[in-house]
Amino acid sequence: MRTEGYNIINDRWRKHLLNRFYMIAWIVLITEAVIFFFDEWAGLLFLPIPLYLFRFLVFPSMINFAVIGAAYWVLNSEKNTEESKDFMVSVACFAVCACVELTHYVFAPVLCAPTVAIYISSIFGNRRTTKRLTIYSVITLILSTILAANELRAGENQLYLDVAIALVITLSAYFIAILMIRREEEQTQSLSESYQKQMELSEQLNRDVLTGLYNRKAMFNMLRYEIRQMNEIHLAVLDIDDFKLVNDRYGHAKGDEVLLFIAKLFSTYVGKLGFPIRFGGEEFAIIFSNTEDETVIMVLEKIRRELSESPFLLADNGSKTYITVSCGVVKYKDSQSIDDFFKSADHAMYMAKSKGKNNVVYVQNSF
Ligand code: GH3
Ligand code: MG
Ligand code: MG
Repeated sequence: MRTEGYNIINDRWRKHLLNRFYMIAWIVLITEAVIFFFDEWAGLLFLPIPLYLFRFLVFPSMINFAVIGAAYWVLNSEKNTEESKDFMVSVACFAVCACVELTHYVFAPVLCAPTVAIYISSIFGNRRTTKRLTIYSVITLILSTILAANELRAGENQLYLDVAIALVITLSAYFIAILMIRREEEQTQSLSESYQKQMELSEQLNRDVLTGLYNRKAMFNMLRYEIRQMNEIHLAVLDIDDFKLVNDRYGHAKGDEVLLFIAKLFSTYVGKLGFPIRFGGEEFAIIFSNTEDETVIMVLEKIRRELSESPFLLADNGSKTYITVSCGVVKYKDSQSIDDFFKSADHAMYMAKSKGKNNVVYVQNSF
């Protein structure tokens, strides 16, 4: 799971790493210069000075700085994928290590230098990159062996033992790096699962347990959000008519069935136009965002009519019961407080009750 946050962190760390490799390339160059002066003073130079300088200082440094420069370019270019950026940083590390290996193959431990790049590549959690770097490391090991066998370590049997050990260390680095990637993958997976659970829990906090609609807390949060966004908001409050009678006659469980039916009606008719809420026992609300007056009223009327025409089989004798709602709706006025906005919608609903219930009242000039 590579989220935007993950990519931002990765981006920062790629730059940190590349800055370090750039610094190390300078350290390598300075060390080579010191070795050159020492060898010259001790009479150990085995090549003419210009050739020596080209072979041990100029050429490796050119490669190092060119690859590091290319990696900086890849990191700063928007066009490149995350994978290619990860790959280039690993290659920059590999370049520095491989140059040291190819120039100082005479020291056995240096034959293992590219394993650093193999380990570094595991940070990015990409098996393909790690595999490619292992192949490159084996190739440079072969090249170093050829150079050594023809130059400073010609005729030295110990060379082949050193190479064999370096090969084992390189392959071990690959297997350990893959293991580290797997560990990282498992950790990421577990983090992603706990994040998912957290999201579900916070979603549950915003939901009504019985109907699954948004609850009172979510309603006020959404109103606050919609007002901040300066959206045009309609708030409808719907209250079931004579619901106490339903409970008294048929029991609480049957009453719950009615509540669930109404919640389903909301989801069907409101859809993407707004957010249905159950903020009290038999009291519902709907927030409409950027919706025309006519559409809001049409949706509310459809819900009211559909409910009033739906027969409920609540009685044991199979007789039908009809349920109705009264609905008040208002539109948000600039700088109105959320409390006043809600009160005005509730007030409109009471107007619908006082007009005989089972109707929708739209109050344009609410307080
Ligand atoms: P009105 O038309 O004036 O709204 O009358 P009403 O009977 O609907 O209003 P009242 O406020 O007197 O009663 C509301 C009833 O809603 C009381 C209670 O039994 C019922 N109620 C509240 N919450 C729940 C619930 O979660 N499940 C069930 N089944 N009934 C509930
Ligand atoms: Mg009520
Ligand atoms: Mg009621």
